[in-house]
Amino acid sequence: MSRVLSLMERVFESALEEERQRLDVSLNWSKSIKRLMLEDAGTFVGEQAGPEWLTRRELRERDLMAEVKAALKRLDEGKYGHCDLCREPIELDHLLEVPWARYCAGCLADSGVLTAPISVATETTRAPR
Ligand SMILES: [Zn+2]
Repeated sequence: MSRVLSLMERVFESALEEERQRLDVSLNWSKSIKRLMLEDAGTFVGEQAGPEWLTRRELRERDLMAEVKAALKRLDEGKYGHCDLCREPIELDHLLEVPWARYCAGCLADSGVLTAPISVATETTRAPR
């Protein structure tokens, strides 16, 4: 952190750091389990050496980790809490619920933003003001 953060930003920073640590632990856990399963497949349930749920969980957590890291970067750059699309401030209650939120409620309500890749979303959706 090179910038001096406001009190509010520090509160969100600690929430994001906490989430990052949680994900770190969880991703390491997934890695250890996978290694164990490969090394000692017999101990586990036979051929299930890479169960679907573990992969899904890992992917989900990696995605979330990327979001959390991006939010920490926005904090550092002084862009935190502003919508990626319309640049308006993101609602506080939304940030409290999802500290790594990129979009305001208005833009989220626009269909497609949630699932479309960022580049596409930026080109095709803009919240009407
Ligand atoms: Zn917006």
